[in-house]
Amino acid sequence: MIEPMLAAVVGALFGAVIGSFLNVCIVRLPAEQSVVSPPSRCPKCGKPVEWRDNIPVLSWLLLRGKCRGCREPISILYPIIELATALLWAGMAWHYGLSLDALRGALFGTLLLGIALTDAREYIIPNEFTYGGLAIGLILSAASGLDSVVAALIGAVVGFAILWLVGVAGRWAFKEEAMGGGDIKMMAMVGTFVGWQGVLLTIFLGALAGTAIFLPLTLIGRKKLVPFGVFLAIGAAVTYVIGPSIIEWYRRYLGVA
Ligand SMILES: [Zn+2]
Repeated sequence: MIEPMLAAVVGALFGAVIGSFLNVCIVRLPAEQSVVSPPSRCPKCGKPVEWRDNIPVLSWLLLRGKCRGCREPISILYPIIELATALLWAGMAWHYGLSLDALRGALFGTLLLGIALTDAREYIIPNEFTYGGLAIGLILSAASGLDSVVAALIGAVVGFAILWLVGVAGRWAFKEEAMGGGDIKMMAMVGTFVGWQGVLLTIFLGALAGTAIFLPLTLIGRKKLVPFGVFLAIGAAVTYVIGPSIIEWYRRYLGVA
């Protein structure tokens, strides 16, 4: 019992720091700014953020959500994203121990969180998350041997191809852009982590979640643009955690295995 707990604590500390960096990425990547320099500043008064005010979650609480310089409020989204990332990394470390599997799950979840947030806020899925995540997925698959690399590559191709085709069909049917390029690249990235069967499940779950949440909003005319990446991210996260059991069940249902 003590070992998973220790692993979870290490995971939480790591995740909090990663979450802090994720905040920088979410704000700067859609604006095509560097995530390395300049150092973080208060967006209102321009005061550089000191190290003691840059400790994940804690600093926000100690500052009671206000900038030390101008006392303007700092969004509660920052500590929430840091906390969510810390919990994600802690959960993976708890479940898998301090291992490559834990790192893989934690990185995938972090990428999905980043994609969901930039897509929800600005309808942008940065290439750093998609191409960068694709590279991470392929590199990590290499650790499990050639078969895994092939599976990851097939997953990427299937993910890319399906959404690309949906995009082509959508343009033909509705005479407008139905699928953003970011969604297509995103599903190539997701494919390296969940494989081609996982890609199918992700799209199914994403469409389901998107319809359930967005159809009512569209019908009452509240929302026009659908940030599909948000729902694909939800679908991919669910697929990563319980996808293998669902796919196994479905194969037995079909009598394939
Ligand atoms: Zn300020």
